[in-house]
Amino acid sequence: MTKRLYDLDSHQSESNSTVLSCVPAGEGFDIVLDQTVFFPEGGGQPSDTGTLGEATVLHVREEAGEIYHRVDHALAVGKTIPGKVDWVRRFDLMQQHTGEHLLSFSFYELFAACNVGFHLALDYATIDFDKPVSREQIQEAELLANRFVWKNLPVQATFYETEEEIAALPLRKHAEGLTPPIRIVQVEGADMCTCCAPHCYTTGEIGSIFVVDASSYKGGTRITFFCGERALRLHRAQHDDLDALARRFSCQREAVVGAVKKLSDDYGALKKSERELAKSLNGYMATEFIQGASVAGKYHVVAQLTSGIDAARLKDLAQACSAEKTLALLLSESEGRLLYVLSSGTGFPLDVSELMPAVNAALGGKGGGRGTLAQGTAPSVSGAKEALEQIRSYFVKRLSDSK
Ligand SMILES: [Zn+2]
Repeated sequence: MTKRLYDLDSHQSESNSTVLSCVPAGEGFDIVLDQTVFFPEGGGQPSDTGTLGEATVLHVREEAGEIYHRVDHALAVGKTIPGKVDWVRRFDLMQQHTGEHLLSFSFYELFAACNVGFHLALDYATIDFDKPVSREQIQEAELLANRFVWKNLPVQATFYETEEEIAALPLRKHAEGLTPPIRIVQVEGADMCTCCAPHCYTTGEIGSIFVVDASSYKGGTRITFFCGERALRLHRAQHDDLDALARRFSCQREAVVGAVKKLSDDYGALKKSERELAKSLNGYMATEFIQGASVAGKYHVVAQLTSGIDAARLKDLAQACSAEKTLALLLSESEGRLLYVLSSGTGFPLDVSELMPAVNAALGGKGGGRGTLAQGTAPSVSGAKEALEQIRSYFVKRLSDSK
């Protein structure tokens, strides 16, 4: 069985190993070594990557107690080769993973919230707790976890040979289905639980722990957190964004929230005023459009092409044009598309759904509706004026013939 060097020293990133077997697998080869510094995926932590001689290690997994290194090309069995893990990736994962121990311990100590799920990805990490935790509780646990970081406590891994020895330990968590020897990870004066992954030597190596998000999850809470360099990069990016906003608003960083709130309030007031103005304008336009309506027997047809009117306002305008026994078709050239609304007033004899197929066909668009209102959109505005006149003629003829 492969000797697991990462169990003995989490900071050993290189070793010389002898290739015991090499078999084709997937698009590469599975390599078994006599000893390895590569941690296989497990304990919620992704596997190491790196190089074995000239080959690239893509993934490492454990199956039935054996460790398989998936590499991109074959290695000679019996040969001794240098192995090197991608240390930047490994150290980042160890920072997140060791930070997870401190966060889980802090939530457990303060609020008896148990970690029931842990996911560590290359760009984020989450912990699921078995009960809801509040924003204030998260901040409290985050502070306690960081205080353990600042104490720079040793992190130790020890193998225990019997269940009796383990039963006597004050474990926060005991993973099920393990057979001795069982590896216990202990942060001196803080966390103790079963764990197979490599960790920082001391809590100081974690750097800092920062909880960025929390949401309800399966009756409990899922938190997302960043440690070490990830936390620094996040703070840097968010600080730069805040600086950019402060420059944009010509204010101090501390005043940005107030400036954004004022902008949002001003925008709301402007939108309200715009809606009122549009309503008045619609009234004037409707009067003018009705005056220019075509007579079709006992009915009237309003057919007008406008521009720059959005769908909501076009609908209001068409309804304002739908006087008694009047059919109104309004078109609007808006952002390169053609919007249209067909609306009928009281005493009009037809359901608009009977007329929409002819409108859609003439304008090259899609739309529908029923009763007194239908709406549609056409991808092109070209030829809209001519099409509108065609539709007007069709409506006038059809209505002139109806009783
Ligand atoms: Zn661990």
